Amino acid sequence: MLEPRPYTEFDVDSDESLEAMAHVRSLLDFIGDDPEREGLIDTPKRVVKAMNEHFWGYRADPTEPLQRTFSEVENYDELVLLQDMEIQSHCEHHMVPFVGRAHVAYIPSGRVVGLSKLARVVEIFSKRLQVQEKLTAQIANTIQEELRPQGVAVIIQARHFCMCYRGVKQSQAWTTTSKLHGVFLQDPAARMELFTLIGSNPGGR
Ligand SMILES: [Zn+2]
Repeated sequence: MLEPRPYTEFDVDSDESLEAMAHVRSLLDFIGDDPEREGLIDTPKRVVKAMNEHFWGYRADPTEPLQRTFSEVENYDELVLLQDMEIQSHCEHHMVPFVGRAHVAYIPSGRVVGLSKLARVVEIFSKRLQVQEKLTAQIANTIQEELRPQGVAVIIQARHFCMCYRGVKQSQAWTTTSKLHGVFLQDPAARMELFTLIGSNPGGR
């Protein structure tokens, strides 16, 4: 269970929100609809509120969840794998969703971090405009830099809506990306253990 999200809601009555709503009205007009009709009259406000939910990651510090670590773990120095975290992000090219799952593994070096904190790092970077490759690298690099473990691996498997309903129309395609640090890069046995645990079937086992 995650703690409450560390962000403040947009103030829908602020000048910035009102300006954003005006832009949404322009878009509604641009696509050929009537922003003043009953069904659309509150849409700009709803869109701005939805953006608050989709993009709160800009208003959170991804290093913050990793500041509290624990050392009383009986010198545990084996693989810790947090698997099948749901991710919902938006591609920065089309601003449409990509959804899937993330697996985060690390091998501690003396100190461990709460598992929900790893999930929080994934969530913060997801709630920004992304490309999957960048999202994968940002999560791995942040954990590596903050925890200095023996190794970090981040694997993301996702479906991109912009590939489903526009362009190449590949509705069933999964994209897999991975970013490895430390022992996962250097030691084939560590890498093998990881990929065996995760399984090699993207999207479901
Ligand atoms: Zn896209």
